[in-house]
Amino acid sequence: MSNPPSILLGLSLPDVDVWSERVVVALGQNPGVFTGPGTNTYLVGTGRERILLDTGQGLPAYLPVLERALERAGGARIREIVLTHGHPDHVGGVSGVCERYGRLRVSKRPWPGGDDALPCEISPIDDGAVIEAEGATLRAVFAPGHAEDHLCFVLEEEGALFSGDNVLGVGTTVIPERGGDLAEYLRSLERLLAERPRAIYPAHGPRIPDGVAKLREYIAHRMEREQQVLAALGDGISRVAELVKRIYAAYPEALHAPAAASVAAQLRKLEREGRVARSGDADPHRAQWRLA
Ligand SMILES: [Zn+2]
Repeated sequence: MSNPPSILLGLSLPDVDVWSERVVVALGQNPGVFTGPGTNTYLVGTGRERILLDTGQGLPAYLPVLERALERAGGARIREIVLTHGHPDHVGGVSGVCERYGRLRVSKRPWPGGDDALPCEISPIDDGAVIEAEGATLRAVFAPGHAEDHLCFVLEEEGALFSGDNVLGVGTTVIPERGGDLAEYLRSLERLLAERPRAIYPAHGPRIPDGVAKLREYIAHRMEREQQVLAALGDGISRVAELVKRIYAAYPEALHAPAAASVAAQLRKLEREGRVARSGDADPHRAQWRLA
């Protein structure tokens, strides 16, 4: 159902790329198991002043890439920064960008207790907020589950969706222990599907040409994983590491850490629904799990 994660580990993308007449990508220079080829940051608009959507992790190699992306955008300047959510590989570049280009407005949905690392005041936005640049209108869609502050953005002129970390061009989204919630995530996917996006521009990996098909695939994939977890528990497998070994048998060992996070997220959802129970330890990775 999803791309094999070996693609996620091996895939490389151009540092700077043009995805549409109003979307130029600058790659965040932070490849890894959780970030694939790195974080995509986007210059959005058609005029002299463009929105910068996300800022990467803050690695020094990013700023020259951003500079080249601005050149590709016709010598454009950054009008303001908009952030999908507060994870470090999206907000880490804010201070470097503001040092290089001056104080810019930085908009995101507030994350109580999570925004402290940001170097500047944020301008709070929420579901339905509209941010405009010449040639581009972004409309925020609140989509929690991967992160509690996560906004996606519809690019109205293209019927396209900037999905942040909710839909990726490679692999599947991690539902982290802090701030993650699989049930909420699935509701967010349904909400994004209702937008009927044509293309999806994800925060990691290549452009997704058919947004509706990808969202349906993501929802079906989670349902399939849930069935696999329930079946394994039914067979008496009780620990996360053992569940991972069985369900992700075909995957390289390097991906077992993110896989364990996914299985733990499934178990927390099923527990809240009263379908599984844990004993022995509060830590989901050390607990013993069984069908309720
Ligand atoms: Zn994230």
